[in-house]
Amino acid sequence: MICDNISVNEKGHLTFNGYDTVELAEKYGTPLYLMDEDKILQHVREYAAAMKKHMPEGSKPEFAGKAFCCRQIYRLLKDEGIDIDVVSSGEIYTASSAGFPMERAYFHGNNKTDRDIEFAMESKVGCFVVDGLDELEAVNRIAGEKGVTQNIILRVTPGIDPHTHKKISTGSVDSKFGTAIETGQAMEITKKALACENIKLLGFHCHVGSQIFESDPFVTAGEIMIKFIFDVKTETGFEAGLLNLGGGLGVRYTENDPEICYEEKIAEVASSVKSLCKDFGIKEPKIMMEPGRSIVADAGMTLYSVGTVKEITGYKNYVSIDGGMTDNPRYALYESPYTVILASRANDNKDFTASVVGRCCESGDIIQENVALAKPKRGEILAVLTTGAYNYSMASNYNRVNRPPVVMLNSEKDYLAVKRESLEDLCSLDI
Ligand SMILES: *Cc1c(COP(=O)(O)O)cnc(C)c1O
Repeated sequence: MICDNISVNEKGHLTFNGYDTVELAEKYGTPLYLMDEDKILQHVREYAAAMKKHMPEGSKPEFAGKAFCCRQIYRLLKDEGIDIDVVSSGEIYTASSAGFPMERAYFHGNNKTDRDIEFAMESKVGCFVVDGLDELEAVNRIAGEKGVTQNIILRVTPGIDPHTHKKISTGSVDSKFGTAIETGQAMEITKKALACENIKLLGFHCHVGSQIFESDPFVTAGEIMIKFIFDVKTETGFEAGLLNLGGGLGVRYTENDPEICYEEKIAEVASSVKSLCKDFGIKEPKIMMEPGRSIVADAGMTLYSVGTVKEITGYKNYVSIDGGMTDNPRYALYESPYTVILASRANDNKDFTASVVGRCCESGDIIQENVALAKPKRGEILAVLTTGAYNYSMASNYNRVNRPPVVMLNSEKDYLAVKRESLEDLCSLDI
């Protein structure tokens, strides 16, 4: 199987972290998001240990909460000692109301409103990742009004295209995120930040993209960033103590994606940064990385019930499920590949090929095309693997479909982390 938390039991049912998925579907209903708590913690610890081992003291991962955001994940991460990224007042509220210590939060986003900035300061968010000049001025002004000194890092664009999907590539000069090094604007904003009364600049941030399997984009980003840190030191005397290299390490959605060893990648990036700092004669900054999907993607699985099975003789077949783009919009957005398995009969011959589609009134409501599986019957359980990242967090109520619950699985128990939305919930804001 594509991940070691997936198997098939003696009944031919797909299992996830040891649990029979057909039984979970009966217990909680479908559609259903499953999250393997043990797998989440395994990844978190792997990142934290590798960064501790290979990078300067204080280096650590931050979980990019946009990948999977609910109170329970912050409760789990709180005790792990890692930091988090937040990108909206909503994410700040979710984390802080779960008891996460907000001094360990980094506030991202290319357009933080004044209200967001105020709320983040009131919530005592530890560090802002300032995206541009307008924001720098707003943060300085609002910090002044509140009588606080706000720690920040500056997001700069190193000018790298990591050759992944256009919509998830963010490091190029013309990106909507950050301030470009190439144009001189990054140096300019650095000087302004150093002159701001109510701001303390800690260092710099870059994020080149997502679903990256090689180390090169990170190594290249590191080279550009260290050179920039050197230039800043030369021009201003400021020596950055923190370098955040962003998130984006890839995960296996299908057997075609390579297996990657995160520690190996981290070690490569670390050794490159180390030797560059030596060459430039600067102090090695603390390194941060911001994994999102590589912490939670393969910790997730979605279960659906099969509905209509439609064969169009001479053309194609459709298997309709009781969810779709409302709980997983990633095929509709990026044609993302996924592995689909008939959980009820996981060992049966895969002699039927179909498009697996959702229930929304959109032809683009597709989970995956050309799926090979045993011909499913109405009521059987279908599993889509590796849905832990950007599924629940991107879910919508389009067609007034209620969002599925999230059930966590650990070695002791299965438990609800998020309830199923009810029909009343759907109308709860309607006047
Ligand atoms: C999306 C994002 C991440 C996480 O990316 P993954 O591909 O999920 O690891 C990290 N940092 C920033 C700034 C992001 O926008």
